[in-house]
Amino acid sequence: MNKHLLALLSIFVVVTTNAQNITGFKSENVKKQLDLETAFESQITAANLDSWMKRMAARPHYVGTEYGKENAEWMLKQFKSWGYDAQIETYQVLFPYPKIRILELTEPSVYKAKLKSVPVSGDPYTEQGEELLPSYNAFSRDGDVEAELVFVNYGIPKDYEELEKLGIDVKGKIVIAKYYGSWRGIKPKLAAEKGAIGCIIYSDPEDDGYVRGDVYPKGAFKNNTGVQRGSVMDMPLYPGDVLTPGYGATEDADRLDREDAPTITKIPVLPISYEDATPLLEALQGPVAPVSWRGGLPLTYHIGPGPAKVHLKLEFDWQLKPAYNVIATLAGTEFPDEWILRGNHHDAWVHGAADPVSGMVALMEEARVVGALAKKGQRPKRTIVFCAWDAEEPGLIGSTEWVEHHMAELQKKAVAYVNTDGNGRGFFNAGGSHTLQTMVGEVADVIMDPQKGVSIKERRIAKDRINGGDDKFELYALGSGSDYTPFIQHAGIASLNLGFGGESAGGEYHTIYDTYSHYIRFKDPEFAYGAALAKTAGRIVLRLANADVLPFSFDPWHKTVSTYLDEVMKSSESMRLEVEKHNKLIADNAFYLAADPTEPFIEPGKKEAIPFLDFTPLQNSMMTLESTIARFDSINFYSLPDSKLKALNELLMHTELALTDASGLPRRSWYKHQIYAPGFYTGYGVKTLPGVREAMEQNEWTEAGEQIKKLALTLDKLNNHIEALCSIAKN
Ligand SMILES: [Zn+2]
Repeated sequence: MNKHLLALLSIFVVVTTNAQNITGFKSENVKKQLDLETAFESQITAANLDSWMKRMAARPHYVGTEYGKENAEWMLKQFKSWGYDAQIETYQVLFPYPKIRILELTEPSVYKAKLKSVPVSGDPYTEQGEELLPSYNAFSRDGDVEAELVFVNYGIPKDYEELEKLGIDVKGKIVIAKYYGSWRGIKPKLAAEKGAIGCIIYSDPEDDGYVRGDVYPKGAFKNNTGVQRGSVMDMPLYPGDVLTPGYGATEDADRLDREDAPTITKIPVLPISYEDATPLLEALQGPVAPVSWRGGLPLTYHIGPGPAKVHLKLEFDWQLKPAYNVIATLAGTEFPDEWILRGNHHDAWVHGAADPVSGMVALMEEARVVGALAKKGQRPKRTIVFCAWDAEEPGLIGSTEWVEHHMAELQKKAVAYVNTDGNGRGFFNAGGSHTLQTMVGEVADVIMDPQKGVSIKERRIAKDRINGGDDKFELYALGSGSDYTPFIQHAGIASLNLGFGGESAGGEYHTIYDTYSHYIRFKDPEFAYGAALAKTAGRIVLRLANADVLPFSFDPWHKTVSTYLDEVMKSSESMRLEVEKHNKLIADNAFYLAADPTEPFIEPGKKEAIPFLDFTPLQNSMMTLESTIARFDSINFYSLPDSKLKALNELLMHTELALTDASGLPRRSWYKHQIYAPGFYTGYGVKTLPGVREAMEQNEWTEAGEQIKKLALTLDKLNNHIEALCSIAKN
């Protein structure tokens, strides 16, 4: 290589480095921001995560415990020592504690369920006896029922369709369902709708036990006595305190009578281990369960009903308990009224080393380093608010009450909310508002995977490629399941949910085995991924806090929402054609089909024809948006004077709000967002374009038509919003 070419090449290298763009920053500010982020990253110390987890997860700390309060006060002290203006905001929330739990098989033989997980050798935390919260499903109602048992697989809609085909009715019966297949709260909700009077949920070893790997303490998976606790509150209706829907559960708030609270289950429900489930399933007769229903227990799975009969008695202490949210604020130097919120919950079901402490300690390390940088004069331009939520586990209660209580101020000042929860080892998972996809992708591009020597973005894309991904970094859409829900779904604040996982599977989730001992053996022994999470979330927070132009981009949003619209249109068409086909088949072959048992089951009788849905209002709105977004993208906002940039950002930060509708979704007005919602019958699982999609799924065709019009108006609202952004540049 000649000298001249070498010189040219080195110039080229220098030029590309200098030209590294990060969305939201003027070119002259890029280096300063990247230097700040590098300084931030270099101070993240994994050993802090380790010692803080050991402390916070030392004893059980569910809502209302002394240790939960101690954790909150300890965090408060930490935040203050790091230079934050910090306080504890307390709400009084209904939290049921199990008083009586009886489950027994009464016929044809007798078995009394133990409902007790055993301590294991090598894990001292499992030996804390009475202090360990008994296993139960929070917000099951009280009840005392006895009836024949029916096995309902996962207890989701398609399982009941199968039961119907087999002529099995659960009315007046107690159902037993496996965990998984849906969010747990869907199981008692559906069972009650089908007329069942009680619900038992168990972890089958095929999904969650010895079929997956060695069980604890030899391996990470669920042993025969492990029980997953968890809330069964009807969160798809509204999350948060069951007695104060839509407003903060302050000391003096008006409260519903418990009997009127619609989010408490209609029937009693109890989770059990596979040890306790075995005698119940063994005692069932009736048809043998379909192949896909059978689990990993050494028995033949029958459906029933009976002859197995069970008695289920549950009684709870229904008390108001204090929920302690720790809120730590670092005021911004230039735009103190523009807030970047960063949260994780601190309450656990038992010790919660993985869920939630692994995410909580990453957040604290971010706060420590951001505070240290601020003390050295590198204070963020916008205000950063670190939040440690209480009462997430029973139903996103701490965060929901805080958002409801501060709704008006948040809708004015919040730019974005960045959430984490339990963290593990493996792939970077990021979900959230698609307007933030570009920025998150740019951050993920510069964070190195602790094991693989490539960026966390490259590793993510490589994984997606195996599943047919198209070499792009993409955010998944948010349903529910952690504290981002009130921010995005209710308040219309752009939100993200971040974490690592995929290589640290285990059976500890919500059991007495989610301990520090388990975590450092099976999850993230070096806290390398905890540190990676702190680096990722921290860089995202710092970019949002210091950007010249807030890093929201509309093009990825438009591309993603277009795919949702395509999906919905295709599914409407295929539903319509399917019914047409079915009706034709019935008309042509009724006699023949009924007579031939080898034919696949076809429901007798004609179905009501599905009307043609007119999607043109949505197609038109999306087309208009496309050209408005192109116009927005053609403007160089970075060259605008500061006064205009300020006005631009003040509008830009409210983008997500344009995607909400004050009247909310049909039958659940708490959910305001018109693009993302948790499914009414899937729970955590997201439904995109929920108004239209769920109306279709429920065969409510008039409603689907109305929802199309409503969604088109929401899209037009976003269009007006982007036009207003463009006109700031013009005027
Ligand atoms: Zn959690």
